[in-house]
Order: sequence, then C-alpha cells, then structure tokens
Amino acid sequence: MGDAVLVLNAGSSSIKFALFAMTLPLRRLWHGEIEEIGRAPRVRAWDAAEELLPEQLWAGNTHEDFLAQLLQWTQAHLQGDALAAVGHRIVHGGADFTAPTKLDAQTIAALDRLSPLAPLHQPHNLNAVRALAKLRPGVPQIGCFDTAFHASMDATTRRFALPRALENEGIRRYGFHGLSYEFIAGRLRQIAPAHADGRIIVAHLGNGASLCALKNGRSVDTTMGLTALDGLVMGTRCGALDPGVLLYLMQQYGMAAPALEDLLYHQSGLLGVSGLSGDMRALLAAGDRAAEEAIELFVFHVAREIGALAASLGGLDGLVFTAGIGENSAEIRRRVALRCAWLGVELAEAPNNAGAGLISAPDSRVSTWVIATDEEAMIARHTIAAIL
Ligand code: AMP
Repeated sequence: MGDAVLVLNAGSSSIKFALFAMTLPLRRLWHGEIEEIGRAPRVRAWDAAEELLPEQLWAGNTHEDFLAQLLQWTQAHLQGDALAAVGHRIVHGGADFTAPTKLDAQTIAALDRLSPLAPLHQPHNLNAVRALAKLRPGVPQIGCFDTAFHASMDATTRRFALPRALENEGIRRYGFHGLSYEFIAGRLRQIAPAHADGRIIVAHLGNGASLCALKNGRSVDTTMGLTALDGLVMGTRCGALDPGVLLYLMQQYGMAAPALEDLLYHQSGLLGVSGLSGDMRALLAAGDRAAEEAIELFVFHVAREIGALAASLGGLDGLVFTAGIGENSAEIRRRVALRCAWLGVELAEAPNNAGAGLISAPDSRVSTWVIATDEEAMIARHTIAAIL
C-alpha cells in the first residue's frame, strides 16, 4: 500500500478524517466522520469507491478516545506501512501563518492565541493536534490554514476603517475557506485553462458561506473578515451586519459578549430568519413563508456580494459554485444567476439541473461552472509537500 497521510478536520462534536496514499496522483484510501462525540457517538467511513464500510463500533466520550481508535484502525489498514504525517485543517492562521506549518509546542501556543477569532473551530482544531501529539509523538503534524490563501489580498482590501493602532494589532480582514478556494483555483486551471487567469468569483455556499474573487488564480478579495461571521447569510451565522446593531443590543438589552456570540454564530442566518432550520435543503422542502424569506435573503446577499466582488475585479469572466448548497442546489444557482443577469451570467437549464462542470448558456458573457471542492485533498497535498 505504501506510506500514507491522515487528514483531520476536528470540530466541536465531530472529527472528519481521510487517509491518502502518498502517491502521485494523490489516492484517497478512505474517508469518514465521527459525529455526536459526547452525546451519541457514531462513526461512518467510506472506501475509495465511496462504498460505506461496515459501521465501526468504537466507544468513548472524548475526541482523544476516538482519535486513539482512528489511529489503531489506520495502522491496521496500513499493514506495516507507515503513517508518515497528519495534516490538520486549522481555521485561523492570523497574520503569521500564511503557509502550511509544522505544528509543535511553540506554533500550537501561537495558534491558540487566535482562538477568540474563530471560537467555533480553532480550539477544537488545536485540541486534536494536542491529542495526536500525545498519542503519536513521533508523527509530524502539519497545519493547513483557511486564511492562508488570502494572504495575497492587498492592503486596501484587508483594511477596516478603524484607527491604525487596531490594524497594527491584527484587526483586519483575513478571509476563510482558503483551502477550498485554492483547490478550486487548481481545478479551474485543469478544466478551463483559458479562464484560469481571468476574473473569477468562487461561491463557496455551504453551512458556512463566502465568496472569493480570483485574479490570476490568486485571492484578491473575499467576503469574510477578521472572523468567519462577515459576508453572506449562513446556516446559523448572520453575515455582514451594521455594527450599530451590536451597540444597540449591548446598550438596550444589556447583552454581553457570550450572549452576542451565541446570537451571531448559532441563532442567526437561515435558522434565525426562518425560525425553522439552518439547513438549506430543509428550507427548500418546507414550503413555508418564513423559510422562503430566509432563502430569498440568502440569495439576495450572494448576488449583492457577487456585484461587490465584481467591482473589486473590475469585471467578471467566470463564476464557480461549490460546497453543499453550491454543488447540489440547481434552484439556488438559478436564483443567484437571475439576480446576476446584469453582469452577464446566464445559465443553461439542463446543465444547471445536471449540476457538474460548465452550466452557463453558450452565449453567456460569464462562464459558470459547478466544481466539487475537496479541502481534504488540498490538505493532503500540502502535508506531503511539507514532509518531503
Ligand atoms: P456543507 O457545509 O458544504 O456540507 O453544506 C451543507 C449545506 O448544503 C446544508 O445547508 C445542506 O442543506 C445543503 N445541501 C446539501 N445538499 C443539498 C441539496 N440537494 N439541495 C439544497 N441544499 C443542499
């Protein structure tokens, strides 16, 4: 089988994992997810042919319990070959971590200081790194950052109109979903090389949602900011919000930071507006007025921000839809495209319904694609490059 790298994306109650053989081209051996850790844990995994493997009967209460079993399982599959490295998705790299980085006590401590900027993800990402270091101290761990791809944004794009002293403290736009955008930029170069250096907007529309403006395959603007709250309406996050709303809530409702954090990260977005669900598929199926209003607000903000990023790019040559909603919902793509007709976006109905590859009409000024993203493959590539 040969040596392999394990990719981990650890969340608050879940761990997504994937094992890649260190071959060229990269080969995924299996992938899976441990869900509901601490409540009713469940492990599912799929092989290279996407066949569901027999349910794994692992037990435990903590992330560390399950990581230990994942390592045992990995070792059994490798049959004597080595686990060469573990690659981690780390949400926030701040100003200093702009490339994949070996994770040791010093880098972990530096990344821990960024936890307040990504409270939903960063502490859980780092706990998995610490657990792995304890379980397999000899195996190198590589951090791959969601912010790193946006290091190419210029100073004006990064800057908030706040006093400079705050910018010097690191309060600026970083952007997220960078591993997804990097993967898409690479795929676009393969499937549409004539467009790869053009003015492209990538719409990563999943539970978390953002847009990235690409020029010459590099990020020049993005909708998320210092944190992953900014920009589009998301499953449970509010997206861009008049900062005066926060002052009002603090002054008139006496809300303090923990209550605001819960409101903005967990109670807002599609869930808050619909009062029903943060899950787009559930809202599309609901046939309920508040659900429809939430969907329309989501679409409106995607189209509005596409307009804003087109201004950053000075025009638009291509549009890519990706992630759970972007890859799977022809209806959302259709509605976004209708609102972007003024920019020259026109979809062809049958390819949009099929939902893969080029979906724009032959005479559309803006070529539009659906491209499946693969952040795990991106992490595996970076991890292999970092240890070779
Ligand atoms: P992600 O975070 O990329 O896994 O995306 C999750 C989001 O994709 C959820 O809001 C899902 O409801 C949504 N999604 C997945 N499949 C579909 C579908 N067929 N139609 C609409 N939304 C979908």
